[in-house]
Amino acid sequence: LSDPNQKSGNLGKVYLVGAGPGDPALVTLRAIECLGQCDAVLYDYLANERILHWANPAATKICLGKHGVGKIWTQDQINQKLLSLASENKTIVRLKGGDPLIFGRSGEEIDALIHAQVPFEIVPGVTASVAAAAYCGLPLTHRQSASSLVLVTASRKDGDHECCDYKALANFPGTIAVYMGTTTVEYWANELMRFGKSPDTPVLIVRNATLPNQKVLSCQLGQVVQTVIGPPRLRPPAIFLVGEVVNHLPAQNWFMNKPLFGQTIMLTRAEHQNDEARNTLEAKGAQVLSHPMIQITASGENQVLKICNSLHRYGWIVFTSRNGVTNFFEQLFQLGKDARVFGNVRIAAIGKSTSRQLEHYYLNADLVPAEFRSEALVEQLQARINPDQRVLIVQGSRSRGVLPSGLKEAGINFDSLIVYRSDDVQTADAEIYSKIAEGEIDWVTVSSPAIARNFARLFGDVVDKIKIASLSPVTSQAIIESGLVPTVEADPYTFDGLIDAIQNHVQIYSK
Ligand code: SAH
Repeated sequence: LSDPNQKSGNLGKVYLVGAGPGDPALVTLRAIECLGQCDAVLYDYLANERILHWANPAATKICLGKHGVGKIWTQDQINQKLLSLASENKTIVRLKGGDPLIFGRSGEEIDALIHAQVPFEIVPGVTASVAAAAYCGLPLTHRQSASSLVLVTASRKDGDHECCDYKALANFPGTIAVYMGTTTVEYWANELMRFGKSPDTPVLIVRNATLPNQKVLSCQLGQVVQTVIGPPRLRPPAIFLVGEVVNHLPAQNWFMNKPLFGQTIMLTRAEHQNDEARNTLEAKGAQVLSHPMIQITASGENQVLKICNSLHRYGWIVFTSRNGVTNFFEQLFQLGKDARVFGNVRIAAIGKSTSRQLEHYYLNADLVPAEFRSEALVEQLQARINPDQRVLIVQGSRSRGVLPSGLKEAGINFDSLIVYRSDDVQTADAEIYSKIAEGEIDWVTVSSPAIARNFARLFGDVVDKIKIASLSPVTSQAIIESGLVPTVEADPYTFDGLIDAIQNHVQIYSK
């Protein structure tokens, strides 16, 4: 990235950045670079807010208005804000849906910047028509039916000023991509036909292109008004692709045929644990929301220090969860120590995600019971441990007592080291609550008894509106004891197993 600090005088710099059509993965590397270094982001309602995750955490984030939510900024107000931030020597990202130079009114912003001598750069984005075609598998040009493409906006901006020459457009031989055509459908469709475009011309309508709620309708120009007006009425944002190429639409939509397309899934673990599950679910086409039920905080630093100085006394160290591993090593590292404290101590892990977390620290667990339960571990430890050896259990403040009592029963000496606290999140997010109540969330993932209990407590009144995916029999038992019913249960008891269980259910019942 060219040095954003290299500003002319005291006039900051503005990056006009395309956010792409919706799918955050369609944003450019350059956009991410700019976001990472800016002081302020001004974004449109069409720019997916998830893209803001790449923004400098210290940057001010200003939403310029969503339809129906709060005020919508006028172009003048936006220009003024850009100039006033620039005069404070700020680096600003002006983030716009799709490509900034296509129906984005960037021309007006560029004029204002040039006039005020504010330096700027432009980062293109994937525009909606191109993205919609791609996410339907539709070629926009085709050797047999269209060798040109035109992008038009059907909005009638200036009252008496016609935006489009419909006579020319009706005779245009290629594909027509109509932007902002939902509310004006009667006007543009009738104008095209009035000037001779055949009512039989095929039309593809793509709403929320590239997003997990993408909707695709196809019809002919003669029925497009009816198709939009409904009921149900089709709401923006939608793009209309008009022309013979639409006849080449594949019967199968590669994007919408993903196994979890159309499913909205709520994750409930602590946010930092979600990355992998989120990626897997999104790759399968699901829409993912997060509402942590449990908050994880580090604890027990002094104990870690004491124990790592005497770790050699133990024959085995048992990690019972991924959080245990992360918190143990973070504390160890903060104390100026590292994995050498392990010496000859052998390592056991409950669950694949726990052993995988150990691999991040280049440690191979010596024992990972095939069955991901404390009970299985006790049996296998018993077979391997010398009678004079002690075991150290690394766990959280609310870990189940099964492992300690199992070890006790088996006559194995042990100590417990609590490296993190886990506390219930106290309030339900109002937006998620109402989404569940409206039936807009299909699944909740429940991966521990504590999560089960807190989910029941926070969402008790609306739980019958959502399907519950449980991680294991132990979790299912807690779900049932909380008065709820798990719809599916993972087997094996891993998060991947849980995703598979959801997928199997969806394949049988929803598709
Ligand atoms: N600069 C944007 C266009 C802004 S105009 C771009 O290059 O894509 C807003 C119009 O874009 C909407 O009315 C709709 O026609 C279209 N649009 C934007 N995002 C869309 C999406 N995800 N799905 C369908 N149409 C979309």
